Amino acid sequence: MRYLSFILLLCVSYANAQQKSSYLLQPDRVFDGVEMHDGWVVLIEGDKITSTGTKESIKASKETQVISMPGVTLLPGLIEGHSHLLLYPYNITDWDVQVLKESDSYRTARATVHAKNTLFAGFTTVRDLGTEGAGYSDVALKRAINEGVIPGPRMLVAGRAIVTTGSYGPKGYDTDMEIMLGAEPADGDNLIRVVRDQIGKGADFIKIYADYRWGPKGEDQPSFTLDELKVVNEVARSSGRYFVSHAKSKEAIRRAILAGAETIEHGDFLDEEIAQLMKEHKVTYFPTIGAVDATQRYRGWKKGKEEDTPTVKQKKKSFSIAVKSGVTIGMGGDVGVFPHGENVLEMELMAEYGGMKAIDILKAATTVNAKALHMENEIGAIRPGWKADLMAIEGDPLKNLSDLRKVKFVMKDGVIYRDETESKQ
Ligand SMILES: [Zn+2]
Repeated sequence: MRYLSFILLLCVSYANAQQKSSYLLQPDRVFDGVEMHDGWVVLIEGDKITSTGTKESIKASKETQVISMPGVTLLPGLIEGHSHLLLYPYNITDWDVQVLKESDSYRTARATVHAKNTLFAGFTTVRDLGTEGAGYSDVALKRAINEGVIPGPRMLVAGRAIVTTGSYGPKGYDTDMEIMLGAEPADGDNLIRVVRDQIGKGADFIKIYADYRWGPKGEDQPSFTLDELKVVNEVARSSGRYFVSHAKSKEAIRRAILAGAETIEHGDFLDEEIAQLMKEHKVTYFPTIGAVDATQRYRGWKKGKEEDTPTVKQKKKSFSIAVKSGVTIGMGGDVGVFPHGENVLEMELMAEYGGMKAIDILKAATTVNAKALHMENEIGAIRPGWKADLMAIEGDPLKNLSDLRKVKFVMKDGVIYRDETESKQ
């Protein structure tokens, strides 16, 4: 048995070695993270991109496997800026039920499929913004992916995320009962301990909820005080990390930015003044339009047949202000609210809701997101020395953004996970 395992191990190592060889990819065009180049090719050696340019300018060795990709656009592996791999659409199972009635192990089993669907859709990295009641299952999922146990995107994870006492859900149950929450509550001085505890348990960054819909009329109202947010920032920074913030109301966005948040999630009620503040503080804005569009549809909105709901109107208004003001906009859809693997929906909605240009949307999902993840020298671009994270699609996303759904090829760290190019037909 031991001998057999050894042979198996050899075969696996051999397969890995074979997989991580040298490839010359020949699409019709290459988006390098900044602009489109017709007729470019890309050379991969091991887990890195080694050169890119015109066919004549690239010298490949005899061992290099040439993959011809006619009709195809090659892009950096896309980056999802706001995912919840431990959640799945609320029209299938209500959020309260997922948080309260599903065990962490059941949710993690589902998350392995979500991870695979994400990678196979060409999203090679995700910033996962909280497990919503599934503890540190994201840290474990990330480990299983990194060890090659399951296929999935590279993950940066938030762990449990932090809320104030009293603000977060699930809500509305008998108050005699202690209900588990979708994130970890902490206030005042206790924030120091909780931030450090989350870091110790594997959080790559801290995610906080600077507001929540707990106003007297159920509207979004700030939760943490400015001083509390400053504590979060100081403690996260001293460990070499940073914090990002859920914030919809103007006041919560303002406090989060002034305290040092690097990214603002949702931002539904931002206006010109807040947009200027975002620019001054070099904050990246993740509009999460996909979640808004999906939840409105789940609540009965017949998109295209009925007038926009007040929530959709507000989102279009604030997102257009952000686009016009020149705020740095990242691509993050709050995927999980809608199906994993459908991440491109957010990119389509960035054009639909705010008239963002296709080239800027492509940059948002590559170079802009890479910077927001502090990985701008590793991913999000097709450049020599960058990780060999690539995806290819049939068509041209500058002509039709939805061509991004026609995935033909996915590579992460130089390993091919999906190949439906002509060379495989
Ligand atoms: Zn979210």
